[in-house]
Amino acid sequence: MAYQPQVANAKIVSHNPKNGLFEIVAELKDRTVCRLFYQKEADGAITPTHISRLQQEPCPICRKDFLCNCMSRFMHEISEQSVDIAGTPQ
Ligand SMILES: [Zn+2]
Repeated sequence: MAYQPQVANAKIVSHNPKNGLFEIVAELKDRTVCRLFYQKEADGAITPTHISRLQQEPCPICRKDFLCNCMSRFMHEISEQSVDIAGTPQ
């Protein structure tokens, strides 16, 4: 079955109002923790640019406990759920 990320918790962890960059840490129901990097445009639109998995738990997809790129395939899905919970910086 295809992996279906479910964000349980998310919060904004850093924000630079000068360049519009911000980061959200998202905790998934399977205990995977990801850091998402965003760019906020002048018109308020946000774009997720990168996702990285924090290596506290093995990857839920490939089971590696070191760096892998599996989460990048789910960046947009995880991002949408994370922004619903955490919102975006003002
Ligand atoms: Zn992986």
